[in-house]
Amino acid sequence: CGIVGYVGPRDSQAILLAGLSRLEYRGYDSAGIAVIDGDGDLGMRKRAGKLKMLRDDLEAHPLPDGTTGIGHTRWATHGGPTDTNAHPHLADDDKLAVIHNGIIENFAEIKADLLSEGYTFRSETDTEAAAVLLGREYRAAGGDLEAAFRAVVSRLEGAFTLLAMHEDHPGLVVGARRNSPLVIGLGEGENFLGSDVAAFVEHTRNALAIGQDQIVSITPSGVTVTDFFGDEVEVEPFEVLWDA
Ligand code: GLU
Repeated sequence: CGIVGYVGPRDSQAILLAGLSRLEYRGYDSAGIAVIDGDGDLGMRKRAGKLKMLRDDLEAHPLPDGTTGIGHTRWATHGGPTDTNAHPHLADDDKLAVIHNGIIENFAEIKADLLSEGYTFRSETDTEAAAVLLGREYRAAGGDLEAAFRAVVSRLEGAFTLLAMHEDHPGLVVGARRNSPLVIGLGEGENFLGSDVAAFVEHTRNALAIGQDQIVSITPSGVTVTDFFGDEVEVEPFEVLWDA
């Protein structure tokens, strides 16, 4: 339902939680975050219920600080609102974290194929089919996350904003969108992604609108946007005008 992503020098947990709290107005039933720390270790925490449940859990059992991170508030469509069904979903031996807004219409078919190849699943969500498929394509692409994204989005039907990051690539968050919104927030030495500008408006007013069927990569120093075939596209900058 709500999506936020961050790459930069600051502690991402605080930025992700603040972004998710600004997206609460959309309604949700669960929340979760994943971060990659300085050693390239991925930590993840997710809880059914209000954002406060997640905050309390993180306070009681802190995750290591990380400067790359993704956060999600879920409005369940496939699988009840449980801790396990909350996002992020992990794949590739828990090195890859994925969050998703929307509905993957052909998830059952993708999941059946992956199960027959021996992949395992933890949740009842449509999202996990995309996460496990991304892990598979990531290996097939020799560790190229953008190439893996292109392979995955060509297979998905329905509506999705997908964000992912991998332990092997600290400082990189990749996203894609079809029939579901995603915007980039441009900072100084840091960059943001959000399902809407509320996710990052307290940090930057400079934004880029990502078009339909496009893939974006953000690092602390730059942003690249391509179509689903990997060809670079021009994106339109705009200034966020409303008050933070
Ligand atoms: N379809 C996904 C799920 O049920 C994502 C829902 C959302 O947009 O929050 O987990």
